[in-house]
Amino acid sequence: MRSALQRGRVDALLVTHLPNIRYLCGFTGSAGILLITESKSVFFTDGRYKEQAATEVQGAQVVIGKKSALAQSAEWLRANAKQLGVKVLGLEAEHSTIAEKGQLRTALGSSLRFKDTYGLVERARMIKDEEEIACLREAVQLGSSLFEVVLKAIRPGRKEVEVAAELEYAARRAGAEGMSFETIVASGPRSALPHGRASEAEIPKNGFVVCDFGIILAGYCSDMTRTVHVGAPSSDARHMYESVRDSQEAAVERVGSGVSAGEVDRAARQLLTNKGLGKYFSHSTGHGVGLEIHEPPRVARAQSEALEAGMVITIEPGVYIPQTGGVRIEDMVLVTEDGCQVLTPTRKELVVI
Ligand code: ZN
Ligand code: ZN
Repeated sequence: MRSALQRGRVDALLVTHLPNIRYLCGFTGSAGILLITESKSVFFTDGRYKEQAATEVQGAQVVIGKKSALAQSAEWLRANAKQLGVKVLGLEAEHSTIAEKGQLRTALGSSLRFKDTYGLVERARMIKDEEEIACLREAVQLGSSLFEVVLKAIRPGRKEVEVAAELEYAARRAGAEGMSFETIVASGPRSALPHGRASEAEIPKNGFVVCDFGIILAGYCSDMTRTVHVGAPSSDARHMYESVRDSQEAAVERVGSGVSAGEVDRAARQLLTNKGLGKYFSHSTGHGVGLEIHEPPRVARAQSEALEAGMVITIEPGVYIPQTGGVRIEDMVLVTEDGCQVLTPTRKELVVI
Protein backbone atom coordinates (compact mmCIF):
# COMPACT_ATOMS: atom_id res chain seq x y z
CA MET A 1 0.00 0.00 0.00
CA ARG A 2 2.87 2.36 0.69
CA SER A 3 4.04 2.11 -2.91
CA ALA A 4 0.44 2.73 -3.93
CA LEU A 5 0.49 5.96 -1.91
CA GLN A 6 3.34 7.18 -4.08
CA ARG A 7 1.51 6.21 -7.25
CA GLY A 8 -1.56 8.04 -5.98
CA ARG A 9 0.61 11.09 -5.15
CA VAL A 10 -0.49 11.26 -1.54
CA ASP A 11 1.58 11.25 1.67
CA ALA A 12 -1.09 9.42 3.63
CA LEU A 13 -4.36 7.63 2.98
CA LEU A 14 -7.42 7.64 5.18
CA VAL A 15 -9.04 4.27 4.61
CA THR A 16 -12.74 4.49 5.46
CA HIS A 17 -14.17 1.56 3.49
CA LEU A 18 -14.60 -1.35 5.91
CA PRO A 19 -13.68 -4.16 3.46
CA ASN A 20 -10.48 -2.25 2.64
CA ILE A 21 -9.75 -1.86 6.36
CA ARG A 22 -10.33 -5.56 6.88
CA TYR A 23 -8.06 -6.42 3.98
CA LEU A 24 -5.23 -4.21 5.21
CA CYS A 25 -5.22 -4.76 8.97
CA GLY A 26 -7.70 -7.55 9.73
CA PHE A 27 -10.36 -5.58 11.64
CA THR A 28 -13.79 -7.09 11.02
CA GLY A 29 -15.92 -4.71 13.11
CA SER A 30 -18.29 -2.12 11.74
CA ALA A 31 -16.72 1.16 12.92
CA GLY A 32 -13.15 2.24 12.41
CA ILE A 33 -10.72 4.12 10.22
CA LEU A 34 -7.23 3.19 9.15
CA LEU A 35 -4.66 5.87 8.44
CA ILE A 36 -1.62 4.83 6.44
CA THR A 37 1.42 7.07 6.16
CA GLU A 38 4.87 6.38 4.73
CA SER A 39 6.25 5.29 8.09
CA LYS A 40 3.31 4.55 10.35
CA SER A 41 -0.20 3.11 10.29
CA VAL A 42 -2.83 3.91 12.89
CA PHE A 43 -6.24 2.34 13.39
CA PHE A 44 -8.93 4.38 15.13
CA THR A 45 -12.04 2.95 16.71
CA ASP A 46 -14.19 3.37 19.81
CA GLY A 47 -14.60 1.56 23.11
CA ARG A 48 -17.06 -1.00 21.75
CA TYR A 49 -14.26 -2.53 19.72
CA LYS A 50 -11.44 -2.36 22.24
CA GLU A 51 -11.06 -6.12 22.65
CA GLN A 52 -11.81 -6.97 19.08
CA ALA A 53 -9.26 -4.48 17.77
CA ALA A 54 -6.64 -5.82 20.17
CA THR A 55 -7.05 -9.37 18.83
CA GLU A 56 -7.64 -8.61 15.17
CA VAL A 57 -5.64 -5.58 14.11
CA GLN A 58 -2.19 -6.27 12.73
CA GLY A 59 0.41 -3.89 11.41
CA ALA A 60 -1.12 -0.74 12.84
CA GLN A 61 -1.14 1.09 16.13
CA VAL A 62 -4.61 0.93 17.70
CA VAL A 63 -6.14 4.10 19.11
CA ILE A 64 -9.38 3.76 21.09
CA GLY A 65 -11.20 7.00 21.72
CA LYS A 66 -14.52 8.43 22.83
CA LYS A 67 -15.18 10.37 19.65
CA SER A 68 -15.98 8.96 16.24
CA ALA A 69 -13.11 7.32 14.38
CA LEU A 70 -13.15 10.19 11.88
CA ALA A 71 -12.88 12.87 14.57
CA GLN A 72 -10.09 10.92 16.23
CA SER A 73 -8.16 10.55 13.01
CA ALA A 74 -8.46 14.30 12.36
CA GLU A 75 -7.18 15.06 15.85
CA TRP A 76 -4.31 12.66 15.42
CA LEU A 77 -3.37 14.21 12.10
CA ARG A 78 -3.50 17.69 13.56
CA ALA A 79 -0.97 16.61 16.16
CA ASN A 80 1.27 14.43 13.99
CA ALA A 81 1.02 15.32 10.31
CA LYS A 82 3.79 17.86 10.27
CA GLN A 83 6.26 15.64 12.04
CA LEU A 84 5.50 12.76 9.65
CA GLY A 85 5.79 15.00 6.59
CA VAL A 86 2.14 14.50 5.62
CA LYS A 87 1.04 17.38 3.40
CA VAL A 88 -1.36 15.64 1.06
CA LEU A 89 -4.01 13.38 2.57
CA GLY A 90 -5.75 10.90 0.27
CA LEU A 91 -9.42 10.19 0.82
CA GLU A 92 -11.23 7.23 -0.67
CA ALA A 93 -13.47 9.22 -2.99
CA GLU A 94 -15.81 6.32 -3.65
CA HIS A 95 -16.34 5.66 0.03
CA SER A 96 -16.31 9.09 1.69
CA THR A 97 -19.35 11.27 2.12
CA ILE A 98 -19.50 15.01 1.51
CA ALA A 99 -20.26 15.40 5.21
CA GLU A 100 -17.11 13.51 6.21
CA LYS A 101 -14.97 15.59 3.91
CA GLY A 102 -16.50 18.75 5.36
CA GLN A 103 -15.82 17.53 8.88
CA LEU A 104 -12.17 16.85 8.05
CA ARG A 105 -11.82 20.25 6.42
CA THR A 106 -13.24 21.97 9.49
CA ALA A 107 -11.00 19.99 11.82
CA LEU A 108 -7.81 20.30 9.80
CA GLY A 109 -8.26 23.68 8.17
CA SER A 110 -5.64 24.50 5.56
CA SER A 111 -2.87 22.54 7.25
CA LEU A 112 -3.40 19.64 4.85
CA ARG A 113 -4.34 19.32 1.24
CA PHE A 114 -7.00 16.69 0.44
CA LYS A 115 -6.85 14.53 -2.62
CA ASP A 116 -9.56 12.20 -3.89
CA THR A 117 -8.19 8.75 -4.59
CA TYR A 118 -9.86 5.99 -6.56
CA GLY A 119 -9.45 2.28 -5.98
CA LEU A 120 -5.98 2.36 -4.42
CA VAL A 121 -6.77 -0.51 -2.04
CA GLU A 122 -9.17 -2.20 -4.46
CA ARG A 123 -6.32 -2.46 -6.96
CA ALA A 124 -4.29 -4.46 -4.47
CA ARG A 125 -7.33 -6.55 -3.56
CA MET A 126 -7.85 -7.69 -7.14
CA ILE A 127 -5.02 -10.21 -6.89
CA LYS A 128 -5.85 -12.77 -4.24
CA ASP A 129 -3.10 -14.45 -2.24
CA GLU A 130 -3.10 -18.14 -1.37
CA GLU A 131 -4.94 -17.68 1.89
CA GLU A 132 -7.67 -15.67 0.19
CA ILE A 133 -8.00 -18.22 -2.59
CA ALA A 134 -8.40 -20.96 0.01
CA CYS A 135 -11.17 -18.92 1.68
CA LEU A 136 -12.89 -18.34 -1.65
CA ARG A 137 -12.69 -22.04 -2.52
CA GLU A 138 -14.40 -22.93 0.74
CA ALA A 139 -17.07 -20.31 0.27
CA VAL A 140 -17.74 -21.59 -3.26
CA GLN A 141 -17.92 -25.20 -2.04
CA LEU A 142 -20.42 -24.36 0.66
CA GLY A 143 -22.41 -22.13 -1.68
CA SER A 144 -22.69 -24.70 -4.42
CA SER A 145 -23.62 -27.48 -1.99
CA LEU A 146 -26.79 -25.48 -1.34
CA PHE A 147 -27.96 -25.89 -4.92
CA GLU A 148 -29.31 -29.31 -3.92
CA VAL A 149 -31.50 -27.57 -1.35
CA VAL A 150 -32.76 -25.21 -4.03
CA LEU A 151 -33.58 -28.10 -6.34
CA LYS A 152 -35.64 -29.80 -3.63
CA ALA A 153 -37.43 -26.57 -2.75
CA ILE A 154 -38.52 -25.61 -6.25
CA ARG A 155 -41.93 -26.86 -7.29
CA PRO A 156 -44.96 -25.29 -8.99
CA GLY A 157 -47.15 -23.29 -6.63
CA ARG A 158 -44.40 -22.58 -4.16
CA LYS A 159 -43.53 -18.93 -3.55
CA GLU A 160 -40.12 -17.69 -4.63
CA VAL A 161 -39.50 -16.33 -1.13
CA GLU A 162 -40.11 -19.79 0.32
CA VAL A 163 -37.40 -21.22 -1.88
CA ALA A 164 -35.08 -18.40 -0.82
CA ALA A 165 -35.96 -19.02 2.84
CA GLU A 166 -35.04 -22.71 2.64
CA LEU A 167 -31.80 -21.88 0.92
CA GLU A 168 -30.84 -19.20 3.43
CA TYR A 169 -31.76 -21.36 6.41
CA ALA A 170 -29.64 -24.20 5.05
CA ALA A 171 -26.79 -21.75 4.41
CA ARG A 172 -26.74 -20.65 8.04
CA ARG A 173 -27.05 -24.23 9.27
CA ALA A 174 -24.04 -25.12 7.16
CA GLY A 175 -21.98 -22.38 8.79
CA ALA A 176 -22.34 -19.40 6.47
CA GLU A 177 -21.92 -15.99 8.12
CA GLY A 178 -24.63 -14.62 5.91
CA MET A 179 -25.70 -14.29 2.31
CA SER A 180 -23.41 -12.25 0.09
CA PHE A 181 -26.39 -10.46 -1.48
CA GLU A 182 -30.16 -10.70 -1.58
CA THR A 183 -31.04 -14.08 -2.97
CA ILE A 184 -32.49 -14.05 -6.46
CA VAL A 185 -35.22 -16.56 -7.25
CA ALA A 186 -37.01 -15.39 -10.36
CA SER A 187 -39.53 -17.72 -11.94
CA GLY A 188 -41.63 -17.78 -15.09
CA PRO A 189 -41.84 -14.35 -16.76
CA ARG A 190 -39.97 -12.88 -13.78
CA SER A 191 -36.90 -14.83 -14.85
CA ALA A 192 -36.55 -12.14 -17.54
CA LEU A 193 -35.61 -9.68 -14.77
CA PRO A 194 -31.82 -9.99 -14.43
CA HIS A 195 -32.05 -8.99 -10.76
CA GLY A 196 -35.41 -10.48 -9.83
CA ARG A 197 -35.16 -10.77 -6.07
CA ALA A 198 -37.25 -13.57 -4.61
CA SER A 199 -40.83 -12.30 -4.43
CA GLU A 200 -44.25 -13.46 -3.33
CA ALA A 201 -44.81 -14.79 -6.84
CA GLU A 202 -45.67 -18.47 -7.12
CA ILE A 203 -43.54 -20.67 -9.30
CA PRO A 204 -45.61 -21.44 -12.38
CA LYS A 205 -46.20 -24.89 -13.86
CA ASN A 206 -43.98 -24.19 -16.81
CA GLY A 207 -41.02 -21.89 -17.18
CA PHE A 208 -37.50 -21.05 -16.15
CA VAL A 209 -36.41 -20.34 -12.59
CA VAL A 210 -33.22 -18.29 -12.24
CA CYS A 211 -31.49 -18.86 -8.90
CA ASP A 212 -28.59 -16.54 -8.12
CA PHE A 213 -27.17 -16.74 -4.63
CA GLY A 214 -24.04 -16.61 -2.56
CA ILE A 215 -22.83 -17.00 0.97
CA ILE A 216 -20.13 -15.40 3.09
CA LEU A 217 -17.55 -17.57 4.81
CA ALA A 218 -14.56 -16.14 6.71
CA GLY A 219 -15.43 -12.81 5.16
CA TYR A 220 -15.25 -14.06 1.57
CA CYS A 221 -18.20 -14.16 -0.78
CA SER A 222 -19.44 -16.83 -3.14
CA ASP A 223 -21.64 -16.11 -6.14
CA MET A 224 -23.33 -18.58 -8.46
CA THR A 225 -26.35 -18.78 -10.73
CA ARG A 226 -28.13 -21.79 -12.09
CA THR A 227 -31.32 -21.76 -14.10
CA VAL A 228 -33.68 -24.70 -14.00
CA HIS A 229 -36.86 -25.37 -15.94
CA VAL A 230 -40.17 -26.36 -14.37
CA GLY A 231 -42.27 -28.51 -16.67
CA ALA A 232 -41.24 -29.71 -20.12
CA PRO A 233 -39.14 -27.07 -21.89
CA SER A 234 -40.13 -25.99 -25.41
CA SER A 235 -37.53 -26.20 -28.13
CA ASP A 236 -37.11 -22.40 -27.90
CA ALA A 237 -36.47 -22.69 -24.18
CA ARG A 238 -33.90 -25.42 -24.80
CA HIS A 239 -32.21 -23.32 -27.46
CA MET A 240 -32.08 -20.39 -25.06
CA TYR A 241 -30.60 -22.49 -22.27
CA GLU A 242 -28.02 -24.19 -24.45
CA SER A 243 -26.96 -20.90 -26.04
CA VAL A 244 -26.34 -19.33 -22.63
CA ARG A 245 -24.42 -22.39 -21.47
CA ASP A 246 -22.28 -22.36 -24.62
CA SER A 247 -21.71 -18.63 -24.21
CA GLN A 248 -20.69 -19.11 -20.60
CA GLU A 249 -18.29 -21.88 -21.57
CA ALA A 250 -16.85 -19.86 -24.45
CA ALA A 251 -16.10 -17.00 -22.06
CA VAL A 252 -14.53 -19.34 -19.48
CA GLU A 253 -12.41 -20.78 -22.29
CA ARG A 254 -11.11 -17.29 -23.09
CA VAL A 255 -10.02 -16.40 -19.54
CA GLY A 256 -6.30 -16.28 -18.89
CA SER A 257 -3.50 -14.12 -17.60
CA GLY A 258 -2.81 -11.25 -20.01
CA VAL A 259 -6.19 -11.50 -21.72
CA SER A 260 -8.23 -8.32 -21.47
CA ALA A 261 -11.51 -8.43 -19.55
CA GLY A 262 -13.16 -7.02 -22.68
CA GLU A 263 -12.07 -10.01 -24.75
CA VAL A 264 -13.72 -12.38 -22.31
CA ASP A 265 -16.91 -10.33 -22.49
CA ARG A 266 -16.73 -10.39 -26.28
CA ALA A 267 -16.40 -14.18 -26.34
CA ALA A 268 -19.66 -14.51 -24.38
CA ARG A 269 -21.45 -11.86 -26.44
CA GLN A 270 -20.27 -13.17 -29.80
CA LEU A 271 -21.68 -16.61 -29.17
CA LEU A 272 -25.08 -15.26 -28.18
CA THR A 273 -25.10 -12.98 -31.22
CA ASN A 274 -24.39 -15.98 -33.45
CA LYS A 275 -27.40 -17.74 -31.93
CA GLY A 276 -29.62 -14.71 -32.57
CA LEU A 277 -29.85 -13.85 -28.88
CA GLY A 278 -27.19 -11.13 -28.55
CA LYS A 279 -29.68 -8.31 -28.11
CA TYR A 280 -31.15 -10.03 -25.05
CA PHE A 281 -27.84 -10.09 -23.19
CA SER A 282 -28.29 -6.82 -21.33
CA HIS A 283 -25.53 -6.78 -18.72
CA SER A 284 -21.82 -7.36 -18.47
CA THR A 285 -20.24 -10.80 -18.38
CA GLY A 286 -18.81 -10.77 -14.89
CA HIS A 287 -17.06 -9.11 -11.98
CA GLY A 288 -14.38 -9.70 -9.40
CA VAL A 289 -15.40 -11.36 -6.12
CA GLY A 290 -13.64 -11.40 -2.76
CA LEU A 291 -14.39 -9.64 0.49
CA GLU A 292 -17.14 -7.92 -1.48
CA ILE A 293 -19.59 -9.46 -3.86
CA HIS A 294 -18.79 -6.94 -6.58
CA GLU A 295 -15.17 -5.86 -6.89
CA PRO A 296 -12.86 -4.88 -9.70
CA PRO A 297 -12.12 -6.00 -12.34
CA ARG A 298 -15.27 -5.55 -14.36
CA VAL A 299 -15.62 -8.13 -17.08
CA ALA A 300 -17.48 -5.94 -19.50
CA ARG A 301 -17.58 -4.61 -23.02
CA ALA A 302 -14.39 -2.82 -24.10
CA GLN A 303 -12.63 -3.24 -20.74
CA SER A 304 -8.95 -3.04 -21.60
CA GLU A 305 -7.84 -4.12 -18.11
CA ALA A 306 -5.71 -7.27 -18.48
CA LEU A 307 -6.62 -10.22 -16.29
CA GLU A 308 -3.83 -11.46 -14.04
CA ALA A 309 -3.17 -14.74 -12.29
CA GLY A 310 -4.74 -14.67 -8.82
CA MET A 311 -7.84 -12.72 -9.82
CA VAL A 312 -11.14 -14.38 -9.01
CA ILE A 313 -13.99 -13.37 -11.30
CA THR A 314 -17.46 -14.50 -12.23
CA ILE A 315 -18.53 -15.49 -15.72
CA GLU A 316 -22.28 -15.00 -15.97
CA PRO A 317 -23.83 -14.28 -19.33
CA GLY A 318 -27.61 -14.29 -19.56
CA VAL A 319 -30.48 -13.95 -21.99
CA TYR A 320 -33.68 -12.18 -20.94
CA ILE A 321 -36.72 -12.05 -23.19
CA PRO A 322 -39.31 -9.66 -21.78
CA GLN A 323 -42.61 -11.24 -20.71
CA THR A 324 -41.22 -14.65 -21.63
CA GLY A 325 -38.32 -15.64 -19.46
CA GLY A 326 -34.62 -15.61 -18.88
CA VAL A 327 -31.59 -17.79 -18.37
CA ARG A 328 -28.33 -17.02 -16.61
CA ILE A 329 -25.48 -19.35 -15.70
CA GLU A 330 -22.71 -18.14 -13.41
CA ASP A 331 -19.52 -19.69 -12.15
CA MET A 332 -16.61 -18.26 -10.22
CA VAL A 333 -13.22 -18.80 -11.84
CA LEU A 334 -9.65 -18.31 -10.69
CA VAL A 335 -7.38 -16.75 -13.31
CA THR A 336 -4.15 -18.71 -13.68
CA GLU A 337 -1.00 -18.18 -15.76
CA ASP A 338 -2.21 -20.51 -18.49
CA GLY A 339 -5.97 -20.08 -18.37
CA CYS A 340 -8.30 -20.48 -15.46
CA GLN A 341 -9.72 -22.89 -12.98
CA VAL A 342 -13.49 -23.07 -12.61
CA LEU A 343 -14.15 -23.02 -8.87
CA THR A 344 -17.89 -23.74 -8.99
CA PRO A 345 -18.33 -27.51 -9.21
CA THR A 346 -22.06 -27.57 -9.97
CA ARG A 347 -23.21 -29.20 -13.21
CA LYS A 348 -24.58 -27.11 -16.02
CA GLU A 349 -26.92 -29.41 -17.95
CA LEU A 350 -30.51 -28.21 -18.02
CA VAL A 351 -32.30 -29.51 -14.95
CA VAL A 352 -36.01 -30.10 -15.54
CA ILE A 353 -38.22 -30.23 -12.44
ZN1 ZN B 1 -24.64 -13.95 -8.99
ZN1 ZN C 1 -22.27 -12.24 -10.00
